[in-house]
Amino acid sequence: MKVPQLDLVTQYQSIKPEIDSAIIKVLRSGIVINGKNVKDLENILAEYSGNKYGVGVANGSDAIFIALKALGIGQKDAVITPTFTFFATAGSVVRAGATPVFIDIEPDTYNISSEKLKDFVEKNCIFNKKNGQLTNQETGQLIKAIIPVHLYGQMCKMDEIMEIANKYNLKVVEDCAQSIGSEYRGKKSGSFGDLATFSFFPTKNLATYGDGGMITTCLEKYEDYCKIFRSHGSKPKYYHKFVGINSRLDELHAAILNVKFKYLDKWLEDRFQVARRYQKLFKEYNLLDKIKLPLNDIYDLESHKGHTFHQYVIYVENRDKLQEFLQENGIGTNIYYPLCLHLQECFKYLGYREGHFPIAEKASKHVLAIPMYPEITEEKQEYVVAKISQFVN
Ligand SMILES: *Cc1c(COP(=O)(O)O)cnc(C)c1O
Repeated sequence: MKVPQLDLVTQYQSIKPEIDSAIIKVLRSGIVINGKNVKDLENILAEYSGNKYGVGVANGSDAIFIALKALGIGQKDAVITPTFTFFATAGSVVRAGATPVFIDIEPDTYNISSEKLKDFVEKNCIFNKKNGQLTNQETGQLIKAIIPVHLYGQMCKMDEIMEIANKYNLKVVEDCAQSIGSEYRGKKSGSFGDLATFSFFPTKNLATYGDGGMITTCLEKYEDYCKIFRSHGSKPKYYHKFVGINSRLDELHAAILNVKFKYLDKWLEDRFQVARRYQKLFKEYNLLDKIKLPLNDIYDLESHKGHTFHQYVIYVENRDKLQEFLQENGIGTNIYYPLCLHLQECFKYLGYREGHFPIAEKASKHVLAIPMYPEITEEKQEYVVAKISQFVN
């Protein structure tokens, strides 16, 4: 049996007539950029994420970069991010001219630890109540924002993070690349921060066949800035207020995404059922004392959507050997992520060393994303768990 980690073709087959016709409609219209499809998707996603405005961009990385620019972040500023996330979260901070400040994660959710965030702010920074500025004592840089990442589709503890942000006058950009549709205490992912960013990269839960991204926000001033920035800083056209970039979501991708959006909630529900089946299977195979599942009990979730299972990530000893064994047995897996950001070569200049963030460093050696997509069959899931059991025992 072959079980890929992700299967894009089965999903395409299930909605093929609609996708094909949406693509042909764009081609026949001759309008391939800045058309109705992009505007519709901007409105849809703004509403879906509990915001007022949406700004389509070329990818999720640009979305973070542009959101930071909209907040006025630049040189001499610092931005807090988890060390255990996709590179773009911190890469975008550097692209904006600022410095990333990394924080360790929680062992159970792999999300940024609000406790360690609080610790860092209280012990390593000085807050000037008069001007509302938070300064990193060690570097003298002003800390301007936090980028919480809802990793694997599971929500960060947003009440605690927002409390810290509000107390220390920090802006919040939610990186929702993996968490579209997730909810924390009844509120959607993307509805907590000043801006939220989404990615439509093929692996994401709402994905196109290529690249795409979106920024959502409740504030018109940010929407305005992002729209100008994404078109070379021009408004009106050919009159440039500042130097921006070219970062467009184009009509073909938006048309595809508008079709797929109608199925998003159903697909998220299917992912939840897949996660439930994994949990049942790992239990039946008596693996719970050898393998840590994403959640001890899926019903521990405060809401059904607290985790939308962008990835189903297990924590195992001997991870690399297990991955190899599964590969030999036709089972695809991935490691998100094998090296923490504070240990990346490009961030050497920041002065972090091994041991700085032990929880994240450990996670990077033990996490394994096993096959997860809405259309995976029970039979395939059982095969995956049976093979993991064979290896572990
Ligand atoms: C995918 C992803 C991004 C970047 O999205 P792209 O569209 O690939 O540029 C940013 N942050 C996280 C956490 C991601 O998973």
